[in-house]
Amino acid sequence: MSAFTAPFVEATLPCGNCREPMRRLTLPSHYGMPVELDVCAGCHLVWFDSTETARLNGPALLSLIGEMAGMQKLAHEVLRREAACPRCSGGLKTIHNQTRWGRSLQLECLVRHGAYQSFAQFLQEKGLLRPMSALDRARLIEQNGRIDCVNCGAAVGASDERCAYCQSVASLLDVARLARALDPEGAIAPHPVHGTQAEQAALQCVACGAALPPGQSLACGTCGATLAINRLADAHAQVDALAPALRAHAAKPAPAVVKRRLDALGEDIPRRRAWAAEMEASAQRRPEPVDDEFDWSSLFSRGTNPVRAVFIALAIWFVWYFWPRG
Ligand SMILES: [Zn+2]
Ligand SMILES: [Zn+2]
Ligand SMILES: [Zn+2]
Ligand SMILES: [Zn+2]
Repeated sequence: MSAFTAPFVEATLPCGNCREPMRRLTLPSHYGMPVELDVCAGCHLVWFDSTETARLNGPALLSLIGEMAGMQKLAHEVLRREAACPRCSGGLKTIHNQTRWGRSLQLECLVRHGAYQSFAQFLQEKGLLRPMSALDRARLIEQNGRIDCVNCGAAVGASDERCAYCQSVASLLDVARLARALDPEGAIAPHPVHGTQAEQAALQCVACGAALPPGQSLACGTCGATLAINRLADAHAQVDALAPALRAHAAKPAPAVVKRRLDALGEDIPRRRAWAAEMEASAQRRPEPVDDEFDWSSLFSRGTNPVRAVFIALAIWFVWYFWPRG
């Protein structure tokens, strides 16, 4: 596409860490307006101009994870101390966000142009990562011959807590949570990894409900369902089959989902009515607003008035001061 046919296409944003051009992704959102974000393939960083990552819908999250998985083929660029905002080249500060999944980190522009998140930070904020037990590590080495860094894709040492290249904590991708993040309304055909939150909390297999021995989180020993995946590319391959159904749902929600949304709205209406009535009642109870402006007519009314007394005193002084003496 030439600059003449598309004059409003923004120039590619250079990465504030490695200075290489970032890749701009335009992804669908829940509210129709697309979300634009920039991804640096070498640094394994996502730049958000705003913090509205919550607006990404299922198909958007799936394609972002696919992009991230592809970018893990590149060797990791170390995060430099002087990493800057790609918008203003100004400094970045580390922000700790409290999410419902725990604390997450991001590097935010000092004047709030946006924030960088590593791939792992993004996945963690979305609640998709879980820690790795010693048993998981042994199983992964046995199965794959290695442990993969969920952020940069490099091999993590068998006993290392963090990746030697990008310092991300060795983690697993939770398959059930990933499926739920992609399809929060449970709109598409039931997927074997769908389960209830209670089952999750009880450390049960989400597919068959069997109790899981502590430390075992990769697969269910009873039914063999995959519960967690180490490599982002494998996780993406596992859920990519959902893409057409997710896109179809985003374009035209299934009647059952539309009904559920309407029911939820209907449940909300009495609460909204009660709130509106309360607002109206409190508006009526409110005393007359106090007028801050001085009411000049009070100077000429009957009765004592301290302001009028001051004026009269000033007038008397004025007359005495300028009275011709002679
Ligand atoms: Zn970069
Ligand atoms: Zn900035
Ligand atoms: Zn890494
Ligand atoms: Zn099972």
